[in-house]
Amino acid sequence: MTKRVTILGSTGSIGESTLDLVRRAKPGEIKVVALTANSNSEKLASQAIEFKAEFVALANNKNAEVLREALKDTNIEIGIGPDALIEAASREVDFCMAAIIGAAGLEPTLAAVDQGIHVGLANKECLVCAGDLFMQRVKTKGATLLPVDSEHNAIFQVLERDKPKGVKRLILTASGGPFREASIETLQKVTREDALNHPVWSMGAKISIDSATLMNKGLELIEASYLFDRPSAEIDILVHPQSIIHSMVEYIDGSVLAQLGSPDMRTPIAYAMGWPDRMAAPVERLDLTKMSGLTFFKPDIHKFPALRLAREALEVGGKAPCVLNAANEIAVAAFLQGQVKFLDIPHIVESALDQHSKRSCFGKSPCEVADIITTDNEARITAHEHIVSL
Ligand code: NAD
Ligand code: MG
Repeated sequence: MTKRVTILGSTGSIGESTLDLVRRAKPGEIKVVALTANSNSEKLASQAIEFKAEFVALANNKNAEVLREALKDTNIEIGIGPDALIEAASREVDFCMAAIIGAAGLEPTLAAVDQGIHVGLANKECLVCAGDLFMQRVKTKGATLLPVDSEHNAIFQVLERDKPKGVKRLILTASGGPFREASIETLQKVTREDALNHPVWSMGAKISIDSATLMNKGLELIEASYLFDRPSAEIDILVHPQSIIHSMVEYIDGSVLAQLGSPDMRTPIAYAMGWPDRMAAPVERLDLTKMSGLTFFKPDIHKFPALRLAREALEVGGKAPCVLNAANEIAVAAFLQGQVKFLDIPHIVESALDQHSKRSCFGKSPCEVADIITTDNEARITAHEHIVSL
């Protein structure tokens, strides 16, 4: 039977890897229904033509004309603006890949969840900013959430979800990013190019910076807590530079189950898109005899305060993870534009958390999407104000 698939954020790194798997699938196995992008009209149009998509949605109307022109001789429907993303996510499919970056992906991903279908979740920020509400929605709509983030995908593969009492802890592995061994003096001088140059994974710009500050691992800690319903105290982080063990689960009997593989996102994407079956992925096969050694270290939270901030935000709960995420998005964008230094990023996040923690309902989880969007907007403003004051 043909699997109908939509990809939210198809022009990004995860989106392109997903389409690479679709391209290699057997004829008739997968049908692409809708594709979305923020502003890259050219890439969106060429993907839509190659994969014979039914509908494309462009979030930013700036390049709408380019998209219309490129698709004028096709019968591919076009939608422009944020509502078009919701429309794309609401088209009837079997599987939706949520691969938009940042909190901008929240509403489209929820629209996919509302269909009660299989949702591949790459967009960790939407779970970080709306964890309780998001997981509640997954439950009430009967959707199946398939984690695409490699660590969470690994845990999903080895976690005995029907025996939660047997689980002692989750162990998230981290590559440590490009500055694992850098001194504070070096970190003070980090350039955009240094930070974008990840030693193991090839990813979009925002997540590459998050990997360099280790905020990515902080977001993943929060993501794991909501996805697998575990408190902060039961989730450890271990630096493992080779990124071969993608994460582990320790059981009360002392067993530790791990998932291993080459560091290639097409493995977790194939797992999510093929679930409950396995789908072939053209990744380098793991040859353990060629590995000189797998190493593990505790993360340095003094050098990488983002990890501490994320853990604190998770423990406070309520609106704290949303504020953390929004302030981080603004700080990372400012760093990418050369407006702030690398080490300013965690300071901007910490000061937004400090300011918002004084508000009366900070520790209370938002019940409505509108509350999350308000908190997200307010935290962005706080972070902007901090940047302007630097
Ligand atoms: P990317 O920057 O390469 O692509 C992001 C996609 O989202 C693009 O299609 C872009 O057009 C779209 N987009 C950006 N801003 C948007 C907006 N405001 N509205 C609508 N669409 C918008 O990002 P990526 O590296 O593919 O990451 C996507 C998600 O997957 C992120 O949440 C990231 O944390 C997660 N993730 C990525 C990787 C990886 O290897 N790249 C690994 C694990 C998790
Ligand atoms: Mg990850």
